[in-house]
Amino acid sequence: MTDPRETRERKCKVLHPTMPDAIRCAERNLGIAPGQKLQPYWGTTSQNAGMIVGWQVSPRKRWRLDYDASPGGKGPHINEENFDNPPHLAKTAHLIARPAISGELQVILQQKKWTSAGSVEK
Ligand SMILES: [Zn+2]
Repeated sequence: MTDPRETRERKCKVLHPTMPDAIRCAERNLGIAPGQKLQPYWGTTSQNAGMIVGWQVSPRKRWRLDYDASPGGKGPHINEENFDNPPHLAKTAHLIARPAISGELQVILQQKKWTSAGSVEK
């Protein structure tokens, strides 16, 4: 809570039971139609470089799957970003209920799935 980058982030009021549920919520907020074609959102950190971490309409409207391992942190969640909104409404976190497998493993497995599917199209 002391990270200044987090101060503008809103939390969705729903604790989503599953990852697809959180993704649908973020895509609804972003105005993405079901089945709409999206561009891969590639990871930019040393931990996820070369991985598809989420999907985007454009660099201004996008979401990514993330994991917050800090004590009392968000755990697995979807980061929704819409920079067409005013700054205080630009970022929303959609929390996902802790799954049976570790949340971190859940995130890594999903990103690997997207990445291997994405590389087939090239
Ligand atoms: Zn939500």
